[in-house]
Amino acid sequence: MARSPEVVVIGAGVVGCAVAYELARRGASVEVLDERSVGMGATQASAGILAPYVESRDDGPLLELTTRSLGLFDSFIERVSSDSGIAVPYRRTGTLDVATDESEMRHLVEIAGHLSSRGVVTKLLDASAARLEEPQLTGTVVGGLTIETHGFVSAPELTRAAATAARRHGAQVVQPSHVKRICPIDGGDIRVETDRGALRGDAVVLAAGCWSGRVEIDGVDERVPVRPVRGQLLHLAWKGEPLRRVLWSPRCYLVPWHDGTVLVGATVEEAGFDESVTVAGVRDLLDAACEVVPHAANAGFGAARVGLRPGTPDDLPVIGRSSVNPNLVYATGHFRNGVLLAPLTAQLVADALLDDKNDPALEAVGPGRFGKL
Ligand SMILES: Cc1cc2nc3c(=O)[nH]c(=O)nc-3n(C[C@H](O)[C@H](O)[C@H](O)COP(=O)(O)OP(=O)(O)OC[C@H]3O[C@@H](n4cnc5c(N)ncnc54)[C@H](O)[C@@H]3O)c2cc1C
Repeated sequence: MARSPEVVVIGAGVVGCAVAYELARRGASVEVLDERSVGMGATQASAGILAPYVESRDDGPLLELTTRSLGLFDSFIERVSSDSGIAVPYRRTGTLDVATDESEMRHLVEIAGHLSSRGVVTKLLDASAARLEEPQLTGTVVGGLTIETHGFVSAPELTRAAATAARRHGAQVVQPSHVKRICPIDGGDIRVETDRGALRGDAVVLAAGCWSGRVEIDGVDERVPVRPVRGQLLHLAWKGEPLRRVLWSPRCYLVPWHDGTVLVGATVEEAGFDESVTVAGVRDLLDAACEVVPHAANAGFGAARVGLRPGTPDDLPVIGRSSVNPNLVYATGHFRNGVLLAPLTAQLVADALLDDKNDPALEAVGPGRFGKL
Protein backbone atom coordinates (compact mmCIF):
# COMPACT_ATOMS: atom_id res chain seq x y z
CA MET A 1 0.00 0.00 0.00
CA ALA A 2 1.73 3.16 -1.17
CA ARG A 3 -0.27 5.88 0.66
CA SER A 4 -1.06 5.77 4.35
CA PRO A 5 -3.73 3.05 4.55
CA GLU A 6 -7.02 3.39 6.37
CA VAL A 7 -7.46 0.43 8.66
CA VAL A 8 -10.55 -0.48 10.67
CA VAL A 9 -9.77 -2.55 13.75
CA ILE A 10 -12.72 -4.50 15.17
CA GLY A 11 -12.28 -4.99 18.93
CA ALA A 12 -10.66 -2.82 21.60
CA GLY A 13 -9.26 -5.53 23.83
CA VAL A 14 -5.57 -5.80 24.54
CA VAL A 15 -4.98 -7.29 21.09
CA GLY A 16 -7.00 -4.74 19.10
CA CYS A 17 -5.51 -1.80 21.03
CA ALA A 18 -1.92 -3.07 20.64
CA VAL A 19 -2.50 -3.56 16.91
CA ALA A 20 -4.13 -0.12 16.55
CA TYR A 21 -1.24 1.51 18.38
CA GLU A 22 1.40 -0.19 16.24
CA LEU A 23 -0.41 0.64 12.99
CA ALA A 24 -0.97 4.27 13.99
CA ARG A 25 2.62 4.66 15.21
CA ARG A 26 3.81 3.50 11.81
CA GLY A 27 1.64 6.02 9.99
CA ALA A 28 -1.64 4.24 9.21
CA SER A 29 -4.93 5.97 9.66
CA VAL A 30 -6.77 3.80 12.18
CA GLU A 31 -10.31 3.54 13.48
CA VAL A 32 -11.15 1.11 16.28
CA LEU A 33 -14.72 -0.13 16.70
CA ASP A 34 -16.08 -1.84 19.79
CA GLU A 35 -19.53 -2.34 21.22
CA ARG A 36 -18.11 -2.01 24.75
CA SER A 37 -15.44 0.38 25.96
CA VAL A 38 -11.67 -0.17 25.87
CA GLY A 39 -10.53 -3.45 27.44
CA MET A 40 -13.95 -4.61 28.62
CA GLY A 41 -13.90 -8.08 26.98
CA ALA A 42 -11.68 -10.89 28.26
CA THR A 43 -8.92 -8.35 28.86
CA GLN A 44 -10.46 -6.80 32.02
CA ALA A 45 -10.40 -10.20 33.73
CA SER A 46 -6.84 -11.10 32.81
CA ALA A 47 -4.17 -11.75 35.43
CA GLY A 48 -1.56 -10.31 33.06
CA ILE A 49 0.98 -13.03 33.77
CA LEU A 50 3.84 -13.23 31.30
CA ALA A 51 5.03 -16.82 31.67
CA PRO A 52 5.83 -18.68 28.44
CA TYR A 53 7.58 -21.55 30.23
CA VAL A 54 4.56 -22.24 32.39
CA GLU A 55 1.96 -21.83 29.65
CA SER A 56 3.75 -24.08 27.18
CA ARG A 57 5.75 -26.98 28.50
CA ASP A 58 6.57 -28.43 25.06
CA ASP A 59 8.69 -27.10 22.25
CA GLY A 60 6.37 -25.90 19.54
CA PRO A 61 4.87 -22.80 17.97
CA LEU A 62 3.22 -21.54 21.18
CA LEU A 63 6.50 -21.56 23.07
CA GLU A 64 8.27 -19.88 20.14
CA LEU A 65 5.63 -17.14 19.92
CA THR A 66 5.32 -16.50 23.64
CA THR A 67 9.09 -16.37 24.30
CA ARG A 68 9.52 -14.06 21.34
CA SER A 69 6.74 -11.77 22.58
CA LEU A 70 8.14 -11.75 26.12
CA GLY A 71 11.43 -10.59 24.57
CA LEU A 72 9.59 -7.55 23.14
CA PHE A 73 7.93 -6.60 26.42
CA ASP A 74 10.49 -4.24 28.01
CA SER A 75 10.67 -2.01 24.96
CA PHE A 76 6.92 -2.29 24.27
CA ILE A 77 6.06 -1.10 27.77
CA GLU A 78 8.61 1.69 27.58
CA ARG A 79 7.22 2.91 24.25
CA VAL A 80 3.55 2.61 25.18
CA SER A 81 4.13 4.37 28.52
CA SER A 82 6.07 7.17 26.92
CA ASP A 83 3.65 7.63 23.99
CA SER A 84 0.60 7.55 26.27
CA GLY A 85 1.93 9.29 29.36
CA ILE A 86 0.53 6.39 31.42
CA ALA A 87 2.89 4.45 33.69
CA VAL A 88 1.91 0.82 33.08
CA PRO A 89 2.42 -1.40 36.16
CA TYR A 90 4.85 -4.11 34.98
CA ARG A 91 7.16 -6.36 37.00
CA ARG A 92 9.52 -9.21 36.18
CA THR A 93 9.54 -10.99 39.54
CA GLY A 94 9.87 -14.50 38.12
CA THR A 95 7.50 -17.36 38.93
CA LEU A 96 7.64 -20.08 41.56
CA ASP A 97 5.98 -23.35 40.51
CA VAL A 98 5.02 -25.32 43.58
CA ALA A 99 4.79 -29.11 43.94
CA THR A 100 2.53 -30.47 46.66
CA ASP A 101 3.34 -34.17 46.11
CA GLU A 102 6.15 -36.32 44.76
CA SER A 103 4.63 -36.88 41.35
CA GLU A 104 4.27 -33.11 40.82
CA MET A 105 7.89 -32.73 41.92
CA ARG A 106 9.05 -35.31 39.38
CA HIS A 107 7.19 -33.30 36.75
CA LEU A 108 8.99 -30.11 37.80
CA VAL A 109 12.34 -31.93 37.62
CA GLU A 110 11.54 -32.99 34.04
CA ILE A 111 10.51 -29.44 33.12
CA ALA A 112 13.71 -28.02 34.66
CA GLY A 113 15.82 -30.45 32.59
CA HIS A 114 13.96 -29.57 29.43
CA LEU A 115 14.24 -25.82 30.02
CA SER A 116 17.96 -26.01 30.88
CA SER A 117 18.56 -27.74 27.55
CA ARG A 118 17.02 -24.64 25.95
CA GLY A 119 19.30 -22.37 27.98
CA VAL A 120 16.54 -21.09 30.28
CA VAL A 121 17.72 -20.24 33.79
CA THR A 122 15.70 -22.21 36.35
CA LYS A 123 16.27 -23.27 39.95
CA LEU A 124 14.90 -26.47 41.45
CA LEU A 125 14.10 -26.17 45.15
CA ASP A 126 13.53 -28.81 47.81
CA ALA A 127 10.84 -28.26 50.44
CA SER A 128 12.90 -26.09 52.76
CA ALA A 129 14.44 -24.05 49.92
CA ALA A 130 10.95 -23.46 48.48
CA ARG A 131 9.77 -22.15 51.87
CA LEU A 132 12.84 -19.93 52.13
CA GLU A 133 11.96 -18.55 48.72
CA GLU A 134 8.35 -17.98 49.82
CA PRO A 135 7.88 -18.26 53.60
CA GLN A 136 4.07 -18.18 53.32
CA LEU A 137 3.85 -21.50 51.46
CA THR A 138 1.96 -24.33 53.13
CA GLY A 139 4.04 -26.74 55.23
CA THR A 140 3.09 -29.66 53.00
CA VAL A 141 4.88 -28.28 49.99
CA VAL A 142 7.39 -30.78 48.55
CA GLY A 143 9.47 -28.43 46.42
CA GLY A 144 9.40 -25.91 43.63
CA LEU A 145 10.91 -24.45 40.51
CA THR A 146 11.72 -20.81 39.90
CA ILE A 147 11.90 -19.25 36.44
CA GLU A 148 13.40 -15.79 36.69
CA THR A 149 12.46 -14.23 33.35
CA HIS A 150 8.71 -14.40 33.97
CA GLY A 151 6.66 -11.46 35.13
CA PHE A 152 3.29 -9.73 35.02
CA VAL A 153 1.66 -6.57 33.77
CA SER A 154 -1.61 -4.83 34.47
CA ALA A 155 -3.67 -5.87 31.44
CA PRO A 156 -6.33 -3.14 31.84
CA GLU A 157 -3.68 -0.42 32.24
CA LEU A 158 -1.64 -1.73 29.32
CA THR A 159 -4.74 -1.70 27.15
CA ARG A 160 -5.74 1.79 28.26
CA ALA A 161 -2.20 3.01 27.59
CA ALA A 162 -2.09 1.39 24.13
CA ALA A 163 -5.46 2.99 23.28
CA THR A 164 -4.28 6.40 24.49
CA ALA A 165 -0.98 6.08 22.64
CA ALA A 166 -2.83 5.07 19.47
CA ARG A 167 -5.04 8.17 19.84
CA ARG A 168 -1.98 10.36 20.23
CA HIS A 169 -0.75 8.95 16.92
CA GLY A 170 -4.05 9.97 15.32
CA ALA A 171 -6.17 6.83 15.73
CA GLN A 172 -9.85 7.08 16.59
CA VAL A 173 -10.46 4.85 19.62
CA VAL A 174 -13.17 3.78 20.34
CA GLN A 175 -16.08 4.33 17.99
CA PRO A 176 -18.92 2.62 19.88
CA SER A 177 -20.67 0.23 17.52
CA HIS A 178 -21.54 -3.39 17.04
CA VAL A 179 -20.00 -4.74 13.84
CA LYS A 180 -22.35 -6.98 11.93
CA ARG A 181 -20.70 -7.63 8.62
CA ILE A 182 -17.53 -7.17 6.61
CA CYS A 183 -18.02 -6.81 2.84
CA PRO A 184 -15.36 -6.55 0.16
CA ILE A 185 -16.15 -3.80 -2.35
CA ASP A 186 -14.77 -2.73 -5.71
CA GLY A 187 -11.12 -1.76 -5.88
CA GLY A 188 -10.09 -3.98 -2.97
CA ASP A 189 -11.60 -1.75 -0.26
CA ILE A 190 -13.71 -3.18 2.53
CA ARG A 191 -17.03 -1.94 3.92
CA VAL A 192 -17.72 -2.57 7.60
CA GLU A 193 -21.41 -2.60 8.47
CA THR A 194 -22.33 -1.71 12.02
CA ASP A 195 -25.51 -0.98 13.96
CA ARG A 196 -24.66 2.72 13.52
CA GLY A 197 -24.02 2.72 9.80
CA ALA A 198 -21.23 1.64 7.49
CA LEU A 199 -17.64 2.72 7.06
CA ARG A 200 -15.02 2.00 4.50
CA GLY A 201 -11.33 1.15 4.78
CA ASP A 202 -8.42 -0.23 2.82
CA ALA A 203 -8.12 -3.06 5.30
CA VAL A 204 -9.83 -4.56 8.33
CA VAL A 205 -8.28 -6.28 11.34
CA LEU A 206 -10.64 -8.69 13.08
CA ALA A 207 -9.63 -8.63 16.76
CA ALA A 208 -13.00 -9.34 18.35
CA GLY A 209 -11.77 -12.00 20.78
CA CYS A 210 -14.11 -14.94 21.36
CA TRP A 211 -16.83 -13.14 19.37
CA SER A 212 -14.74 -13.07 16.17
CA GLY A 213 -16.65 -15.97 14.60
CA ARG A 214 -19.92 -14.09 14.98
CA VAL A 215 -19.01 -11.34 12.53
CA GLU A 216 -20.34 -12.15 9.06
CA ILE A 217 -17.81 -11.90 6.27
CA ASP A 218 -19.07 -11.75 2.66
CA GLY A 219 -17.31 -14.22 0.41
CA VAL A 220 -15.95 -16.26 3.32
CA ASP A 221 -18.10 -19.30 3.96
CA GLU A 222 -16.34 -20.59 7.05
CA ARG A 223 -16.16 -18.77 10.37
CA VAL A 224 -12.96 -18.50 12.33
CA PRO A 225 -13.28 -21.32 14.92
CA VAL A 226 -12.87 -19.25 18.07
CA ARG A 227 -14.92 -20.29 21.10
CA PRO A 228 -15.42 -18.71 24.53
CA VAL A 229 -13.55 -20.36 27.42
CA ARG A 230 -14.73 -18.81 30.66
CA GLY A 231 -12.20 -17.76 33.27
CA GLN A 232 -12.99 -16.45 36.76
CA LEU A 233 -10.41 -14.54 38.78
CA LEU A 234 -10.44 -13.12 42.31
CA HIS A 235 -8.99 -9.91 43.71
CA LEU A 236 -7.98 -10.29 47.36
CA ALA A 237 -6.88 -7.50 49.69
CA TRP A 238 -3.75 -9.03 51.19
CA LYS A 239 -2.91 -8.44 54.84
CA GLY A 240 0.60 -8.70 56.28
CA GLU A 241 3.78 -9.75 54.52
CA PRO A 242 3.40 -9.56 50.71
CA LEU A 243 4.06 -12.59 48.52
CA ARG A 244 7.40 -12.27 46.78
CA ARG A 245 6.56 -13.44 43.26
CA VAL A 246 3.93 -15.16 41.12
CA LEU A 247 3.09 -18.52 42.69
CA TRP A 248 1.86 -21.33 40.51
CA SER A 249 0.30 -24.43 42.03
CA PRO A 250 -1.55 -27.23 40.25
CA ARG A 251 -4.96 -25.72 41.18
CA CYS A 252 -4.40 -21.97 41.00
CA TYR A 253 -1.94 -19.12 40.67
CA LEU A 254 -1.43 -16.05 42.88
CA VAL A 255 -0.12 -12.72 41.59
CA PRO A 256 1.08 -10.15 44.15
CA TRP A 257 0.53 -6.50 43.21
CA HIS A 258 2.48 -3.70 44.85
CA ASP A 259 -0.81 -2.10 46.00
CA GLY A 260 -1.53 -5.12 48.23
CA THR A 261 -3.95 -6.80 45.84
CA VAL A 262 -3.37 -10.49 45.21
CA LEU A 263 -5.01 -11.96 42.11
CA VAL A 264 -6.10 -15.58 42.34
CA GLY A 265 -6.87 -17.34 39.09
CA ALA A 266 -8.29 -18.87 37.20
CA THR A 267 -11.08 -21.25 36.29
CA VAL A 268 -11.11 -22.76 32.80
CA GLU A 269 -14.71 -23.53 31.84
CA GLU A 270 -16.67 -24.35 28.71
CA ALA A 271 -19.78 -22.29 29.49
CA GLY A 272 -20.66 -20.76 26.15
CA PHE A 273 -21.03 -16.97 26.07
CA ASP A 274 -22.19 -16.83 29.71
CA GLU A 275 -20.16 -14.14 31.52
CA SER A 276 -21.40 -14.90 35.04
CA VAL A 277 -19.32 -15.27 38.17
CA THR A 278 -20.41 -18.48 39.90
CA VAL A 279 -20.38 -19.67 43.50
CA ALA A 280 -18.49 -22.82 42.46
CA GLY A 281 -15.84 -20.78 40.64
CA VAL A 282 -15.24 -18.47 43.60
CA ARG A 283 -15.28 -21.34 46.13
CA ASP A 284 -12.80 -23.45 44.12
CA LEU A 285 -10.37 -20.57 43.71
CA LEU A 286 -10.56 -19.62 47.41
CA ASP A 287 -9.99 -23.27 48.44
CA ALA A 288 -7.07 -23.62 46.06
CA ALA A 289 -5.45 -20.37 47.24
CA CYS A 290 -5.78 -21.28 50.95
CA GLU A 291 -4.41 -24.75 50.23
CA VAL A 292 -1.13 -23.42 48.86
CA VAL A 293 -0.87 -20.27 51.05
CA PRO A 294 -2.95 -20.75 54.22
CA HIS A 295 -2.56 -17.05 55.10
CA ALA A 296 -4.86 -16.27 52.14
CA ALA A 297 -7.74 -17.03 54.51
CA ASN A 298 -6.99 -13.70 56.30
CA ALA A 299 -7.23 -11.62 53.14
CA GLY A 300 -10.16 -9.35 52.45
CA PHE A 301 -12.37 -10.23 49.50
CA GLY A 302 -12.02 -7.55 46.84
CA ALA A 303 -13.82 -8.66 43.70
CA ALA A 304 -14.49 -11.55 41.38
CA ARG A 305 -13.94 -10.98 37.67
CA VAL A 306 -14.95 -13.09 34.73
CA GLY A 307 -13.87 -13.11 31.11
CA LEU A 308 -14.27 -15.23 28.00
CA ARG A 309 -10.91 -16.29 26.59
CA PRO A 310 -10.85 -16.73 22.83
CA GLY A 311 -9.98 -20.44 22.49
CA THR A 312 -9.16 -22.27 19.25
CA PRO A 313 -9.12 -25.99 18.38
CA ASP A 314 -5.30 -26.16 18.54
CA ASP A 315 -4.81 -23.57 21.32
CA LEU A 316 -2.84 -21.34 18.95
CA PRO A 317 -3.91 -17.82 17.96
CA VAL A 318 -5.17 -16.95 14.49
CA ILE A 319 -2.99 -14.21 13.04
CA GLY A 320 -2.52 -13.23 9.41
CA ARG A 321 -4.22 -12.33 6.17
CA SER A 322 -7.38 -14.06 5.03
CA SER A 323 -6.71 -16.41 2.14
CA VAL A 324 -9.95 -15.22 0.54
CA ASN A 325 -9.51 -11.47 0.98
CA PRO A 326 -5.93 -10.26 1.62
CA ASN A 327 -7.22 -6.97 3.02
CA LEU A 328 -8.84 -8.79 5.91
CA VAL A 329 -6.38 -9.68 8.66
CA TYR A 330 -7.18 -11.90 11.64
CA ALA A 331 -5.73 -11.16 15.09
CA THR A 332 -7.74 -13.38 17.37
CA GLY A 333 -7.87 -16.69 19.25
CA HIS A 334 -5.16 -15.83 21.80
CA PHE A 335 -6.78 -18.05 24.46
CA ARG A 336 -4.74 -17.90 27.71
CA ASN A 337 -1.97 -15.66 26.36
CA GLY A 338 -3.48 -12.59 24.74
CA VAL A 339 -1.67 -10.17 27.00
CA LEU A 340 1.66 -11.93 26.63
CA LEU A 341 1.24 -12.17 22.86
CA ALA A 342 -0.01 -8.60 22.30
CA PRO A 343 3.34 -6.98 21.36
CA LEU A 344 4.25 -9.72 18.88
CA THR A 345 0.76 -9.82 17.38
CA ALA A 346 0.85 -6.06 16.84
CA GLN A 347 4.22 -6.34 15.13
CA LEU A 348 3.19 -9.25 12.90
CA VAL A 349 -0.04 -7.55 11.80
CA ALA A 350 1.64 -4.20 11.10
CA ASP A 351 4.50 -5.89 9.20
CA ALA A 352 2.02 -7.81 7.06
CA LEU A 353 -0.32 -4.89 6.39
CA LEU A 354 2.09 -2.01 6.02
CA ASP A 355 5.27 -3.65 4.73
CA ASP A 356 3.81 -6.73 3.04
CA LYS A 357 6.22 -8.74 5.18
CA ASN A 358 5.25 -12.27 6.05
CA ASP A 359 7.09 -13.35 9.14
CA PRO A 360 7.84 -17.12 9.22
CA ALA A 361 5.93 -17.27 12.54
CA LEU A 362 2.71 -16.69 10.58
CA GLU A 363 2.94 -20.14 9.05
CA ALA A 364 1.84 -21.86 12.25
CA VAL A 365 -0.86 -19.36 13.16
CA GLY A 366 -2.34 -18.37 9.79
CA PRO A 367 -6.13 -18.60 9.34
CA GLY A 368 -5.64 -20.95 6.36
CA ARG A 369 -5.06 -23.90 8.69
CA PHE A 370 -8.80 -23.85 9.42
CA GLY A 371 -9.96 -23.78 5.80
CA LYS A 372 -10.92 -21.01 3.42
CA LEU A 373 -11.10 -18.14 5.88
C1 LIG B 1 -9.47 -15.08 34.08
C2 LIG B 1 -8.51 -14.84 32.95
C3 LIG B 1 -7.15 -14.77 33.22
C4 LIG B 1 -6.25 -14.56 32.18
N1 LIG B 1 -4.92 -14.46 32.48
C5 LIG B 1 -4.03 -14.20 31.48
C6 LIG B 1 -2.67 -14.01 31.78
O1 LIG B 1 -2.28 -14.12 32.94
N2 LIG B 1 -1.81 -13.72 30.76
C7 LIG B 1 -2.23 -13.59 29.45
O2 LIG B 1 -1.42 -13.33 28.57
N3 LIG B 1 -3.54 -13.78 29.15
C8 LIG B 1 -4.44 -14.08 30.12
N4 LIG B 1 -5.76 -14.26 29.83
C9 LIG B 1 -6.16 -14.27 28.42
C10 LIG B 1 -6.31 -12.87 27.88
O3 LIG B 1 -7.06 -12.09 28.77
C11 LIG B 1 -7.00 -12.93 26.51
O4 LIG B 1 -6.28 -13.78 25.64
C12 LIG B 1 -7.04 -11.52 25.90
O5 LIG B 1 -7.64 -10.61 26.78
C13 LIG B 1 -7.77 -11.54 24.58
O6 LIG B 1 -7.77 -10.22 24.12
P1 LIG B 1 -8.61 -9.79 22.85
O7 LIG B 1 -8.31 -8.37 22.62
O8 LIG B 1 -8.34 -10.77 21.74
O9 LIG B 1 -10.12 -10.05 23.26
P2 LIG B 1 -11.07 -9.25 24.24
O10 LIG B 1 -10.36 -8.63 25.36
O11 LIG B 1 -12.19 -10.17 24.58
O12 LIG B 1 -11.59 -8.07 23.33
C14 LIG B 1 -12.46 -8.29 22.24
C15 LIG B 1 -13.29 -7.03 22.05
O13 LIG B 1 -14.04 -7.17 20.85
C16 LIG B 1 -15.29 -6.56 21.06
N5 LIG B 1 -16.24 -7.09 20.10
C17 LIG B 1 -16.57 -8.41 19.94
N6 LIG B 1 -17.45 -8.54 18.92
C18 LIG B 1 -17.69 -7.31 18.46
C19 LIG B 1 -18.52 -6.79 17.42
N7 LIG B 1 -19.25 -7.58 16.64
N8 LIG B 1 -18.54 -5.46 17.21
C20 LIG B 1 -17.78 -4.63 17.98
N9 LIG B 1 -16.97 -5.07 18.96
C21 LIG B 1 -16.92 -6.39 19.20
C22 LIG B 1 -15.65 -6.90 22.49
O14 LIG B 1 -16.59 -5.99 23.01
C23 LIG B 1 -14.28 -6.83 23.17
O15 LIG B 1 -14.06 -5.56 23.76
C24 LIG B 1 -6.70 -14.44 30.84
C25 LIG B 1 -8.06 -14.48 30.58
C26 LIG B 1 -8.97 -14.67 31.62
C27 LIG B 1 -10.43 -14.69 31.31
